[in-house]
Amino acid sequence: MTSSVWHPFTQHGLHEPIPLVVRGEGAALYTADGARIIDAISSWWVTTHGHCNPRIMAAIREQTERLDQLIFAGWTHEPAEELARGLRAIMPENLTRVFFSDSGSTSVEVALKMALGFWAAREEPRHHILVMEHSYHGDTIGAMSVGARGVFNRAYEPLLFDVTVVPCPVEGHEQAAFDALERACARGDAAAFIVEPLVLGAGGMLIYTLGALAEMKAICERHGVLFIADEVMTGWGRTGTLLASEQAGISPDILCLSKGLTGGSLPLAVTMASEPVYMAHYGTDRASMFFHSSSYTANPVACAAANANLAIWRDEPVLERVADLKKRQSAMLASLARLPGIINPRQAGTIIAFDVETKGATGYLADIGPVVRERCRKEGVLLRPLGNTIYVMPPFCIEQDDLLTIENVIRRALVGD
Ligand SMILES: *Cc1c(COP(=O)(O)O)cnc(C)c1O
Repeated sequence: MTSSVWHPFTQHGLHEPIPLVVRGEGAALYTADGARIIDAISSWWVTTHGHCNPRIMAAIREQTERLDQLIFAGWTHEPAEELARGLRAIMPENLTRVFFSDSGSTSVEVALKMALGFWAAREEPRHHILVMEHSYHGDTIGAMSVGARGVFNRAYEPLLFDVTVVPCPVEGHEQAAFDALERACARGDAAAFIVEPLVLGAGGMLIYTLGALAEMKAICERHGVLFIADEVMTGWGRTGTLLASEQAGISPDILCLSKGLTGGSLPLAVTMASEPVYMAHYGTDRASMFFHSSSYTANPVACAAANANLAIWRDEPVLERVADLKKRQSAMLASLARLPGIINPRQAGTIIAFDVETKGATGYLADIGPVVRERCRKEGVLLRPLGNTIYVMPPFCIEQDDLLTIENVIRRALVGD
């Protein structure tokens, strides 16, 4: 029987194979027909400590014996309280409040609504959002509005709200980006600037400098524009530190976290906010509360998984694993970068990426992507190039043998033998 499942980012008319996965362990997935597949992209950037991490699985099992779900408006539960305390202890000190939701996209929607609520409470007419070129913040209407426009959202474009796009401050082009941000801030109607710190993920693993990130934060601060850090992908060690923004020595006013929050095991997100953002919604007037909820806000089982993730960060040498993977990834990049037709090799922490020179179409729909993806799948590696950009972002626990297999499979796929 054919499947009725409609998959995300999938053109079903191409009838590309859709493998059935039955089990995951560490950096590996196992398909129904017995193949072992190395997960080279952490199942779309979520899995940090490996699939089915025993500590996270145990925490989930234990929580399911106690409480499955609870309305979170006006009620609370220990897993959420514990998680809020745990996040407060490790996230930037100025981020005093934790608002829960269930995906990266919703954490961004929440951040945008908080920023607008902040200015509404001050009765200052600031509703404009500043964004960085090539950014990605999710696929809901608001998140798409603040992300790059392209083939992915052409059909929905009429519904997307207007934003001001600031160039990405790639090395050598920083000043143009600063000037554009300065001008946009100076207009006086900007509520917030939303950025992916250090690495623009879905935009093609583009990396910009920490100095530029710090300078952009300083510009926003001078103009009182709220700084929203979307660390949905860059958070939880991916770039070598817990957060990418900490490498630039900055603390955002609003922080979005998801993906690795539960170690990549269950859907959960938080939007952390500074005290002024929270206080803008605080008072005795019901009309000024923060009007947002989703049914599964702070689901107890997902919170328990996140608490287990935080415990792993507390008592296991996660940053050492990250540093070790960073070194091994660096070696793989150096080796692959020697292949003909490979340009722009780059790395941020555990993430490596490079572009493949193509004769035909470039961008997201470049032909090379699906060809490399299919070749890798056949050889037991889960890889999903972004157009002609190939990147590797494995779980931190990946063994060297598996990393070498990824390298060899990519090499064979590129030289085509
Ligand atoms: C993946 C991603 C999102 C969206 O998260 P979802 O959980 O897929 O909704 C938002 N921002 C960034 C930077 C991401 O990488």
